[in-house]
Amino acid sequence: MKAEAKKDIRALSREALRDFFEGRGLQAFRGNQVYEWLWKKGAHSFEEMTNLSLDLREQLATEFTINHIEVDRMQRSADGTVKNAVRLHDGLVVESVLIPTENRTTACVSSQVGCSLDCKFCATAQLKRMRNLNPDEIYDQVMVIDRQSRLYYNRPLSNIVFMGMGEPLMNYPNMMKAIAKITSPEGLGMSPRRITVSTSGVPKMIRRMADEGPRFNLAVSLHSAIDRTRSSIMPFNETFPLADLREAIAYWYSQTGSRVTYEYVVWEGINDQPEDVAALLEFCRAAPCKVNLIEYNPIGDDGFRQAPEPALNAYIDALENAGITVTVRRSRGKDIDAACGQLANKS
Ligand code: SAH
Repeated sequence: MKAEAKKDIRALSREALRDFFEGRGLQAFRGNQVYEWLWKKGAHSFEEMTNLSLDLREQLATEFTINHIEVDRMQRSADGTVKNAVRLHDGLVVESVLIPTENRTTACVSSQVGCSLDCKFCATAQLKRMRNLNPDEIYDQVMVIDRQSRLYYNRPLSNIVFMGMGEPLMNYPNMMKAIAKITSPEGLGMSPRRITVSTSGVPKMIRRMADEGPRFNLAVSLHSAIDRTRSSIMPFNETFPLADLREAIAYWYSQTGSRVTYEYVVWEGINDQPEDVAALLEFCRAAPCKVNLIEYNPIGDDGFRQAPEPALNAYIDALENAGITVTVRRSRGKDIDAACGQLANKS
């Protein structure tokens, strides 16, 4: 049998693994053991599964393969940020970032190879979407960063953000499966409260997700609350206009009781006027929310420039006066192109 014809064993559920052994007249609990090796222990080969007989390991190896990821290249930034170029089983590459702060380490993971959206300010958008990541490929990125966190910072990973390459809601089933594994005691056992899914805002997917009663956090990359402006920098806004997004966010809150975070960059000449601030304030009335003002990370063309301090302060003052929590996020890992919107497989 050719290697590529073998099935990836990690596509099998625990039940399916138990059935596999039972079907061959073997004990079903072997399925649990294999499952534990694959997910909890992150085994990359059947040889590692030392509580199975050699014979069993060989049988598994003739029928299945384990499509694990491989860190191709690791770069460490002066501020401690680690960027990994991660090679997938078919040779495609995505990037995953470890962001350490004083009391957290956050994994920023990718959900797609490239991206199908076309945000004008994002480096990933310049790569077309090549494919969705499988649940195990998302899970593996988290595993890799958890190991790096233990190695370099002597502590386990504390948070996960889906803010790497791709639009997680355009790879919805796989993202949900990965989160289920990450939060399951049979996987990494992380609390969903420590996970944030960031979307450019796909209304029908936000609704669908809300219906599943998730316990993770939602961030929406808003950047403008005026349709004309938003469509000019995020052209898919033509298809998913702000009114629909707003309703979907209100629905999310009604179903989950969880405040949405708006990610927002203030650019000179684009969204730095009083009318832009007023529109954001109005949009914030859709549901309880927080606003995260993020620093612009230049991606190599001069079309976009971070607005100077006074414009930023106008936003901060107005939001605070309206009782809305606002945070200002400074970029990390800029020197190695690991900051938001800079992930584009430069190597
Ligand atoms: N597709 C998802 C997640 C990936 S982008 C989303 O859009 O939310 C993660 C965040 O980085 C988003 O808020 C995005 O708007 C922001 N971003 C993209 N390019 C950026 C850049 N050049 N500088 C700063 N933030 C950027």
